[in-house]
Amino acid sequence: MTTHTGGCLCGQVRYAFDAERVEGGTCYCRDCQRATGSPMTTVTMAATEALKITGETRTYSLQSAADRTVTRHFCPTCGSQLFTDAEMAPGARFIKCATLDNPSAASIQANYWLSAAPDWAPVDRSLTCFDENPSG
Ligand SMILES: [Zn+2]
Ligand SMILES: [Zn+2]
Repeated sequence: MTTHTGGCLCGQVRYAFDAERVEGGTCYCRDCQRATGSPMTTVTMAATEALKITGETRTYSLQSAADRTVTRHFCPTCGSQLFTDAEMAPGARFIKCATLDNPSAASIQANYWLSAAPDWAPVDRSLTCFDENPSG
């Protein structure tokens, strides 16, 4: 088991979790694009209680395309997006892989919401690809 650590741009929020491997998925949906200012965001999942967070986050919640509540956590000082809680994944928290201290620790398994990817977005077509979310 390896302890993976990360945090926001200003360092106010830090986090750690234990995982054998950090397996991620990349989402190209419009909500993630607007929330991050990037054509996609890559996340990995950890049990909420296994993710140790220091510092304070603020949250923004909205309804996803599937009409489920999605809550994004960000640093109130620097605005970095760090975690997402999804109604469809109770007890779990999605961690934005680019905020890891070692982003290369993540290996990406699949792409989601490619139907919303801009033409200029880099897309690894060798991964499992979904036009939307397979789970709805
Ligand atoms: Zn910060
Ligand atoms: Zn998304």
